[in-house]
Amino acid sequence: MADIHQLPTILSDQISAGEVVERPASVVKELVENSIDANSTKIDIVVAESGLKSVEVVDNGSGIASNQVELAFRRFATSKISDKRDLFRVRSLGFRGEALPSIASVSDVDMKTSDGKKQGAEIQIHGGKVVKMEPSQARRGTSVLVSDLFFNTPNRLKYLKAPATELSKISDIVNRLALSHPEIAFSLTHNGRELLRTSGRNNMQQVIAGIYGNRNMKQMIAIKGENPDFKISGYISLPELTRASRKYTSVIVNERFIRDFGLDHAIIDGYGSKLMVGRYPIVVVSITMDPSLVDVNVHPSKEEIRISKKKELSTFISQTIYETLSKQNLIPEAMNNQ
Ligand code: ADP
Ligand code: MG
Repeated sequence: MADIHQLPTILSDQISAGEVVERPASVVKELVENSIDANSTKIDIVVAESGLKSVEVVDNGSGIASNQVELAFRRFATSKISDKRDLFRVRSLGFRGEALPSIASVSDVDMKTSDGKKQGAEIQIHGGKVVKMEPSQARRGTSVLVSDLFFNTPNRLKYLKAPATELSKISDIVNRLALSHPEIAFSLTHNGRELLRTSGRNNMQQVIAGIYGNRNMKQMIAIKGENPDFKISGYISLPELTRASRKYTSVIVNERFIRDFGLDHAIIDGYGSKLMVGRYPIVVVSITMDPSLVDVNVHPSKEEIRISKKKELSTFISQTIYETLSKQNLIPEAMNNQ
């Protein structure tokens, strides 16, 4: 990983300003994305009281050199992009250099990090002010403990939903991150109870089974498709297995999960008339495409992205799903004909 450096103002101006930390789930998302960007193979997430008390993320990634730790908490300081060209072909999940300073300004942060080469460092920040910075013996990797979120912004605190809702948002984010990265071993623990554990053996089927259950996985089938612009893979539920909500659809573009109404719609379209009104399938589709056709610098949380050939992609997704389901229907028919 390159050194952390402050981005020039022109570039930082291009990065649209906005709120990064809306709720505990945003803290989980930003910290875990940093761990993924640091090439971690194991990421453990420990949450207390739905994240309102604390969120801790421990990874075994590249770590931060101790002389760069303070810089990591400055606004627009990042190791992930350097110039304008990089901005239009972002491969990492982060690149805005906003998450750590944003989080640290509204909470208590304790980070221990080491690049595994030199002595590690521990930094503590309270409401944006560094209160402790000292050497630590941490092994390679980073742990970040965020507590008392929004202690100095009571309005934000008031705006949060019931703890059960905040926890379900955390769980949802971790599920999607785990689905986007089956090659990483994730665990999510809440108040001492394990909610998710994935093996990191790069087995998407296993991750889906861990999230939606083995029984549901058995009613899902693989999809695969490729054309000159897009490669698509994933699993879709048979039309018999549906849910009353759309939230069981995960779309992943270049290993980043995104929310896109149009693409969700394309998935449903692929089922044609096979779904009952108001029922939605369980779907995980992973799309690989040229990063230069994707603009991720649309939204501070980077969940919304702009895709140049969106119409073509929608059609391709619908078609791939439609064809996969049609073939599936042929199997029992062929057997009936025997
Ligand atoms: P961004 O991810 O957009 O670069 P952040 O504020 O999230 O901005 O992080 C700032 C920098 O701190 C990152 O660019 C990276 O170099 C470093 N960093 C943050 N978290 C980690 C981590 N878990 N492991 C290694 N480096 C990290
Ligand atoms: Mg980040």
